[in-house]
Amino acid sequence: MKAYRAALLRFDPAADPRQAAVYEADGLLVLGPDASGAEVVHDVGAWAALAPRYPGLAVEHLPGRLIAPGFIDMHVHFPQLNVIGSPADGLLPWLENHTFPEEQRFESPAYSAAEAEFFLDELLRHGVTTALAFATSHPASVQALFAAAQQREMRLITGLCLMDRHAPAALLNRAGPAGTDATEQSLIDSENLLQQWQGVGRLGYAITPRFAPTCSAAQLRGAGELAARYPQAWIQSHVAENHDEIAWARSLFPQSRSYLSTYDDFGLMRDRAVYAHCIHFDAEDRALMHATGAAAALCPTSNLFLGSGFFDYASAEQAGFRYGLASDVGGGTSLSPFHTMLGAYVVGRDGRGKAGLSLTPQHLWWQHTAGAAQALGLDGRSGRPAVGNLLPGCEADFVLLNTQATPLLARRTARAANLDELLFALIVLGDDRVVERTVIARSARARPVGPR
Ligand SMILES: [Zn+2]
Repeated sequence: MKAYRAALLRFDPAADPRQAAVYEADGLLVLGPDASGAEVVHDVGAWAALAPRYPGLAVEHLPGRLIAPGFIDMHVHFPQLNVIGSPADGLLPWLENHTFPEEQRFESPAYSAAEAEFFLDELLRHGVTTALAFATSHPASVQALFAAAQQREMRLITGLCLMDRHAPAALLNRAGPAGTDATEQSLIDSENLLQQWQGVGRLGYAITPRFAPTCSAAQLRGAGELAARYPQAWIQSHVAENHDEIAWARSLFPQSRSYLSTYDDFGLMRDRAVYAHCIHFDAEDRALMHATGAAAALCPTSNLFLGSGFFDYASAEQAGFRYGLASDVGGGTSLSPFHTMLGAYVVGRDGRGKAGLSLTPQHLWWQHTAGAAQALGLDGRSGRPAVGNLLPGCEADFVLLNTQATPLLARRTARAANLDELLFALIVLGDDRVVERTVIARSARARPVGPR
C-alpha cells in the first residue's frame, strides 16, 4: 500500500453536483490493489481520523499541496494538437484550411506514433488522466494512440473516424483490398480494431462517425449495427455546433426530425454515446438525450473560439441529460482543464437567448471529473470501473496541485475564505503550472508520470 498526506478533494456522488465537493484541509489518501491487482483508493479521509488505523505505513507528506481526482477530457482530437490556435472564419473554413491537411499526415504509422507520444504526454502534463479522443480515418492513427496509452496504463477511449464522403479524398475511408467499398471496409476496420482493443487493460473502443454530413446513410446504419452488437463500446460524434453545419446536416437527412435525431434514427443514441457541443437544441432534442441515455461533451473554449454559441445549462438541467467538460483541441484553445472550466463559467453566464447563471466552482470541477465519469458510464455503477473521484474503490488516478504555483495565485489562494473561493481562484488563474504531478493507477504500483 502507498499513502499521501495533503489537502484532499473528492465528490459525494449522492449530493447535488453544485455543492458535492468533500474537502479535507489535512487529508490522507491510502492506495492499494483491488482483487484484480489494479491500484485503487483503499481509504480516504481526514489525517487525524485515519492515520491511527495505518501504523507503520509509509506516507508521502505534501504540505501546501492539493490532491484532486485526475481530470477527464470527454472530447479531444488527437490529430489536431498541431493546429491548435489556427485562425479561421468559423468551423467549416477551419476544417478545410487547417484541420483536414494536418489529419492527412496520420496515414503514416511513424507520424501517428510520434504524435501519440506527444499528445498523451501533454494530456498528463495538464492533469488529464482519462480521455475520449478522436483519431483519424486511418487505422494507423488508432493503433498508435491505443499502443501509446497502453504503455502509460491510461484510461483512454478512441476509435476509427468514419467519414466516407464530403472531405478531401486523402481523409476519407478507403476501399478494401478484396473489393469491399470504402463504407464496408470502414466498418470492417472498426470492428477489427474494437475486437483488438476494447477492454484491453484500461482501453475502450468508440464507434466514431465524425459527424452526419461526412457519413453516408449506409455508413451510419453500419455504425448503428456495430453499436447494437457491442453495447460495452462507446459511440462518439458531433452535433448542433454551428448553424451552417446544422443546415447542411438537415439537407442531407431531411427525413429525420432534427440533426440530433438523425443519429437516433440510425441507432447511435444510447448509454455510452457521447455527442460533442449540443448547443443548438430544441426541447425535443433535449428530451431525446435524456430518454436515450446519451451524454453531451461540452466544449466551451472551442465554442467561444469558433463563435459557435453557448451551451444552455438551465435547459439541460431541466431535461435531465448527462454532460461533462471537454477541451475539443484543436478547435479548443487549451488542453488545460482550468481553462476549460473557466470557459464553461463564461458560457454559463451568457444570458442572451438562454438563462444566464453562475455555475458554482464545485459544479465546474465536478463536470471535469466525477460528472464526466458519470456521463461516460465510468462512475463505478454495475461493477464498471470508476474514475474521476477519490472514493474507496476508485481507480487511483489523481493530480497533485500547487495552489501557490504563481505569485498571484499564491496571494489569492492564501486569502480564500472557503472551498469555493479556493477552487475558483485555481479555475480563473490556474493552468499547467499548477499541476505538479499526475499519477496514473498502475496495475502493480503507483509511479508519477511526467512530473514538471
Ligand atoms: Zn470535435
